[in-house]
Amino acid sequence: MRDVINKGVTEDDLIKSVRSAFELGWNNIKLYFMIGLPFEEDEDVEGIADLAYKVVDEYFKVPKDKRQKGLNVTVSTSSFVPKPFTPFQWFGQNTMDELYRKQRLLKEKIKSRFITYNWHETPISFLEGVFSRGDRRLTNVLIKAWELGCKFDGWQEFFNYEKWMKAFEECGVDPHFYATRERSLDEVLPWDFIDVGVSKEYLISEYKKAEKGILTPDCRQGCTGCGITKLLKGGKCFNE
Ligand code: SF4
Repeated sequence: MRDVINKGVTEDDLIKSVRSAFELGWNNIKLYFMIGLPFEEDEDVEGIADLAYKVVDEYFKVPKDKRQKGLNVTVSTSSFVPKPFTPFQWFGQNTMDELYRKQRLLKEKIKSRFITYNWHETPISFLEGVFSRGDRRLTNVLIKAWELGCKFDGWQEFFNYEKWMKAFEECGVDPHFYATRERSLDEVLPWDFIDVGVSKEYLISEYKKAEKGILTPDCRQGCTGCGITKLLKGGKCFNE
């Protein structure tokens, strides 16, 4: 999955880093992951637990006199929200039920007392998914939600999912149309009229490469032709 999202970080990198941290006396490790990514399989979600267990194992490989007592590995997952102008702008976000299922799957895999599992609030991720790729029809929903009393939604104690759903219903807008629907590559997207420089053809090719888990190298090592140069002075990019 790290290759799908073009992270360019290996498991070996992570294990070496935590090993150094343990040897330097750190005993709290926080690992952040994303679930609900395009092309994700259950084994990828379970792989998060496997990786956390490897971190625990690495701690116990460090001689006792060299490590701090009391290990605590915290695994946090957030849920993937597709964004415009990215190779995943066509992807249908995982439904809340699917995300809950994946969170349960992971929770069941984590049995160690050294590992704590936290996850990002799923209804908030769903709303993020709606608004990140929304269009003008959502304006009415925003106003309606505010009229119904929604405010400070970033604070969990204020967030009220039912009121948001009521706002969608009263405005006759289906939130799934925006969040969980897979778009076809030739669909006209609400943000297509904005030219950010990176070409749609490039995003499509990155999407197809992601499906095959093919990495695109860091373009500072050589231009990969994203198309942004047409917006830059003299048509040249930073590394030319
Ligand atoms: S070097 Fe510039 S034009 Fe080439 S891929 Fe990178 S950002 Fe795009």
